[in-house]
Amino acid sequence: MMNIKSDPTLLSEVKKFGNFDPNACYQCGSCTVICNLTNGSASFPRKVMRYILFGLRKLSLTSLEPWLCYYCGECSTTCPRETEPGEAMMTLRRFLTAKYDWTGISKKLYQSKVWQIAALIGSSAFMALLILLFHGPIVTDQVELNTFAPAHTVHLFDLTVALLVMFILFTNAFRMYWFTMHQTDSVNPLKVIRGLKQNGFGFTMHEGKKIKIPLRLFLTEARTLIFHAATQIKFRSCDNKSRWIKHFLIVIGYILMFALVVIFLEWFQTDNIYPIHHPQRWLGYLGAAALIYFTAEIIIGRIRKREEIHKFSDLSDWMFPILLLFMAVTGIAVHIFRYMGFPLATYYSYAIHLMVAFTWLVVIVPFGKWTHLLYRSLAIYYQSVRDKAIQKQLTKEEALDNAA
Ligand code: SF4
Ligand code: SF4
Repeated sequence: MMNIKSDPTLLSEVKKFGNFDPNACYQCGSCTVICNLTNGSASFPRKVMRYILFGLRKLSLTSLEPWLCYYCGECSTTCPRETEPGEAMMTLRRFLTAKYDWTGISKKLYQSKVWQIAALIGSSAFMALLILLFHGPIVTDQVELNTFAPAHTVHLFDLTVALLVMFILFTNAFRMYWFTMHQTDSVNPLKVIRGLKQNGFGFTMHEGKKIKIPLRLFLTEARTLIFHAATQIKFRSCDNKSRWIKHFLIVIGYILMFALVVIFLEWFQTDNIYPIHHPQRWLGYLGAAALIYFTAEIIIGRIRKREEIHKFSDLSDWMFPILLLFMAVTGIAVHIFRYMGFPLATYYSYAIHLMVAFTWLVVIVPFGKWTHLLYRSLAIYYQSVRDKAIQKQLTKEEALDNAA
């Protein structure tokens, strides 16, 4: 008999991260049926909602399903009880992000608007102070951005902050691995063998020996991680294909701008105005255009609330597109003022651009909504590793049975 501990505090804890009300659900299963992304080995959204309802804390932590949902909203429009399962998955992603984050900052940010606003103001003010203290000479008879803020100094600062952020992301990703792929428990989903058993809670629970995952599988499935991180192709399975294209283009725009301003800053930030056909200019324009267009569309969608996915907006859902939009707009403003030969306007807009970029890099990327890019890609990878390991072990067990 399985020993399942129920934690009565789990539901109220999850509710602090957003809209989550599974009590109205009468288990019709329509949400799972309508979801194009659910399958035999990863069934959602209903299953994981029940984990929370029944207080199955450890099982909910091992769950990859919230990350496999792309929030198309189709389950929510189908739900006859208006339980909002799509938003419930969003809430669970916030809850899991807070659980993976060892610093505890994600939890504070997701549970408190005051913390979110203080983090925004505090990080921007800190950057403003650094600029005030360390900016170079202010040349006013012509634009000399590299005198005001030398590219190599900004680049060194960028890389230092990026390394710190990567350390936090890497350690949190390791915690995700630990919870979802390593943690042992009597109800670990990696304990599968000799059939799946329908238990008293009405969902499929696995029991038997713990699945062994050969290291080789992590290596061979790494291509899944790279492919899905680069394409987010699973999003295409949702009925509204245009969302995948928009999501893909915004990610491409973001990666392009990140590469230009963090990795190749000394090539990108010059006082010379290059001709329009120079890649420094058109790469910058392409990245900025993608970010401005699609973030503005997200913000307008959230204001209008016409689509299911925009019905609920946590402050973190606003901060993500607004900061990205500000970063792109202030970057373009620097370029325009520099092009027009307005020195002070160039320096001020650059200072604001650095303040927004710093806030984005130290708040949103390691602790906020940006993390979904990392955790979702890892979840798809881990799910693929799990599926292959389970299949491998089942085949082995069957061969042993047949031989006996
Ligand atoms: S569609 Fe709604 S009522 Fe039916 S199982 Fe899903 S959440 Fe529950
Ligand atoms: S929001 Fe879309 S992807 Fe997510 S569970 Fe619902 S139907 Fe599936």
